[in-house]
Amino acid sequence: MHVDMDAFYASVEQFRVNPELVGLPVCVGHDPREGRGRGVVRAASYEARDYGIRSGMPVTEAYRLCPDAVFVRGDFSNYIEASDEIMGVLEEFADDERVRRASIDEAYIDVTRRALVCGGPEPLAKEIQQAIRETTKLPCSIGVAPNMAVAKIATGINKPMGITLVPQDSVAIAEFLAPLDVRVVNGIGRVTAQRLGKYGITTLGQIQRMPLTDLYPIMGVKGAKWLRNRAFGIDGRPLKRSGPRRRKSISKDRTFMEDIDTSSIAPLYGTLDDICKRIWKKLQAKSLRFRTVTVKIRYSDFSTVQRSRTLKVGTDEESVLCCVALQLYKENRLPDRWLRLIGVKVSNLLSKQGQLALSDFF
Ligand SMILES: [Mg+2]
Repeated sequence: MHVDMDAFYASVEQFRVNPELVGLPVCVGHDPREGRGRGVVRAASYEARDYGIRSGMPVTEAYRLCPDAVFVRGDFSNYIEASDEIMGVLEEFADDERVRRASIDEAYIDVTRRALVCGGPEPLAKEIQQAIRETTKLPCSIGVAPNMAVAKIATGINKPMGITLVPQDSVAIAEFLAPLDVRVVNGIGRVTAQRLGKYGITTLGQIQRMPLTDLYPIMGVKGAKWLRNRAFGIDGRPLKRSGPRRRKSISKDRTFMEDIDTSSIAPLYGTLDDICKRIWKKLQAKSLRFRTVTVKIRYSDFSTVQRSRTLKVGTDEESVLCCVALQLYKENRLPDRWLRLIGVKVSNLLSKQGQLALSDFF
């Protein structure tokens, strides 16, 4: 199975961060009304897509299509948190916990044995969809096929909350793929699609019917063989379990409801303390120590300063984290300015058990 979350970032905003956004056209990206019109939409809810809004589109264009759209900046740590929960659910369903994380919101799972005891792949896919919805509140779509390449294509056929089953036999797989656009193949980007288009090739069925040698001048020998295999749904890659995601940092930030004066330390104490506490809880949960603390200060004009301090040894003490963060803030704030956002990040993370630097893995 290939499991892909539906409008992931936008769904996290709607179903986990701010339930008032459910049912509304939501764009994750800078708000063009705040004078930051240069960014792009990182994700659009299905309600926003109804207006023609797509991810990657400039926010000004999205605003033109739907002036009522809600623009949210988004906090990446929320997406990571949701992603970890999703992968956790998938591990419970996969044979031998064989989950291959393909991106933050996508994974392949081997359910060959599990499907046999669950009355087949379709009831199992429904059960997984429900489990993800219950645990994480988020919608997803699932493609079921004999291999990863076909499963990924199947997932895209029916979204959101879709389940697409591809039969096991090779003739049926080729028939399923034949009418589809070449761009559904993972690895065929815009450039390759354009090159194929110049030769009049737009569907996988056309590739199925071509002599392999006719593909050589377009794709090269290796590329031609690869694409022909994909067009017939042949993919011999084994589904290897991906290791646990190794964290490089943990960060949280807070945007103030109203900009606050940099000289008013008191309200900041509370906010910084709260942010540090939440980071510390995460560190505890993951059994991690930190060495570097970074404070991010964003002013009302959106100019942003980041300052870091690295400790001589790793620690997991909450008081150290709070102290360093507050110190960094006090040393680096500019007088007579207004604050829009404050954030804290810990990095240089060390596992408490082995005392092994996680950065050693990279
Ligand atoms: Mg997705």
